[in-house]
Amino acid sequence: MSQHGLLIVISGPSGVGKGTVCQALLKQKADLVVSVSKTTRQPRAGEKDGVNYFFVTPEEFQQSIADGDFLEYACVYDHYYGTPRRAVEKMLAAGRDVILEIDTQGALQVMQTYPQGVFIFLLPPSGAELRNRIVKRGTETQETLKKRLAAAKSEVELAYKYQYVIVNDRVEAACERISAIIKAEKMRVMRNQELIKALVEEVKE
Ligand code: 5GP
Repeated sequence: MSQHGLLIVISGPSGVGKGTVCQALLKQKADLVVSVSKTTRQPRAGEKDGVNYFFVTPEEFQQSIADGDFLEYACVYDHYYGTPRRAVEKMLAAGRDVILEIDTQGALQVMQTYPQGVFIFLLPPSGAELRNRIVKRGTETQETLKKRLAAAKSEVELAYKYQYVIVNDRVEAACERISAIIKAEKMRVMRNQELIKALVEEVKE
């Protein structure tokens, strides 16, 4: 067993169902946590501070950048979003697997600074289905819907940079696929150096 938890980065276009998939995964896997980001956007109906996001002012966000508090951060649809570094490091050191549900700009930063992470891109079953899901969510105006669809196209093109793609046709199926990835990743040689070393020592006559 590797002692450090896995850092699992999940991206995908707006409306693909990242949030739903991550919440479903959390229910299934006790050693999994989702990192709570800071954002300068306003809370949507039903969203809670400290649960969905830490909602902060642009000034507070800038201060966190200056203090080096972010593992990564990005400006997405005119608002800032960032992953608090210390909380994530603490959870990984405690052996928990941590999910970052972040956009492609942020994921590309993490690929540079934490290449041992696991990078997963969620795809919708089709473009039409993606549009449906965003419209059904009812949180977008005509203008922001257009923006999100345009951004979706360029985001999907970045899927090539990830290690895994998962089609989110059904939430349970997507969760199963992600669980399979997590299981396999834990068995990679690079994550089990200590185990191998200990065994080599043990069998030394
Ligand atoms: P929403 O406003 O719909 O909650 O999120 C908008 C986008 O920001 C989504 O693609 C979401 O994955 C991304 N996002 C959320 N938190 C973070 C973060 O901490 N860092 C980055 N880079 N993106 C984030």
